[in-house]
Amino acid sequence: MSSSSWIQDLARAVTSREGLRRSLSLTEDEEGYFAALSRDNHAGPGLSLRIPSSYLDLCTDHPDDPLRRQCVPRRQEFDRQPWEDDDPLLEVAHTPRPRLIHRYRDRALFLATDTCAMYCRHCFRRYFTGKQRGPATGEEIARAAAWAGQTPSLRELILSGGDPLTLKDEDLKAIFLAFRAARPDLVFRVATRVPVVLPGRITPELSRLLRQQTPLVVVTQFNHPRELSPPSTRALEALVDAGIPLFNQTVLLRGVNDHPDTLEELFRGLVVRRVTPYYLFQGDLAPGTAHHRVPLGEATEIFSTLRRRLSGIALPTFAVDLPQGGGKIPLYPESLSRREPGWYHLQSLDGTWFRYPDEAFAGEIDPGADSRPESSVKIK
Ligand SMILES: *Cc1c(COP(=O)(O)O)cnc(C)c1O
Repeated sequence: MSSSSWIQDLARAVTSREGLRRSLSLTEDEEGYFAALSRDNHAGPGLSLRIPSSYLDLCTDHPDDPLRRQCVPRRQEFDRQPWEDDDPLLEVAHTPRPRLIHRYRDRALFLATDTCAMYCRHCFRRYFTGKQRGPATGEEIARAAAWAGQTPSLRELILSGGDPLTLKDEDLKAIFLAFRAARPDLVFRVATRVPVVLPGRITPELSRLLRQQTPLVVVTQFNHPRELSPPSTRALEALVDAGIPLFNQTVLLRGVNDHPDTLEELFRGLVVRRVTPYYLFQGDLAPGTAHHRVPLGEATEIFSTLRRRLSGIALPTFAVDLPQGGGKIPLYPESLSRREPGWYHLQSLDGTWFRYPDEAFAGEIDPGADSRPESSVKIK
């Protein structure tokens, strides 16, 4: 594959209903999305459509195809639950510099670009993603790097977005060099779905560039075993052979991977490809994503089954991001013992209790009780 073929793949990406119709016969729910979008004068629920042709080729015409569910929008994106939030992780409140999110003492996350190769329909950062802001400017990079220089507790910088690997090599390199100059000791973490959705982007030049930024790890997001296609497998192999440690975060998604057998196959497939399963995430409470989420009780049951089946190196941590910036917590069935009708009570790492909806009973949840900190209860 020539080094520029990923640019052509992206240029041929499907971005419209007409483009989709050329590959798939759209279901009623999928057509319903576009009908609602035109009624809404295209304001819509706010996440662009883009599917690289290579990913669309992996999708089948089956209406419930697990890959199709991740990339083809459905009308349910217009359904908003009262407990959903535009910015469910309260990132905007934790932004010491533009595009820089700092919530955990030793880690910060830099939104390198808002662009992704593919817009995943379960995206939780839809308040930012694909909003035509483009790559971080030189000034934004300089200010974020200067902040890193003045913040000695920071040890790790996560490049995210958007997908940082949609940047051109030289733009990516400029970001690394700016942070490296301010902080020679920083560990870089690149969060990307590119090995899944645009594997041709992992060129020999890119692998070399990433290798030069050591210490650097790459965290991917494979959600289904069929995403471990031959081109994706080659992309992972190229990165690992270049000497880059690889981890994977999977989002638990209804109709995609909400069965222990599917996740077992995925995690084993990752380990075989020398990728360590790092997190399995409960879907975040982002607007219009309820149809992708698995109720928390069912989610912990799936995880318990996996815990009995898988070796330590194949088993990720199951985690949920608490609403309103409560942070990430690992989750076990035992965590769900405290509850009130319709709501679980979950404890953040600093000891605060938060309400979290039990969506198995979505119709019965009293929307008066919500997940805001005012309605969370502090432990005695
Ligand atoms: C998830 C996240 C991190 C990384 O957390 P880990 O548990 O180290 O993977 C860092 N910053 C923000 C804002 C995050 O959401």
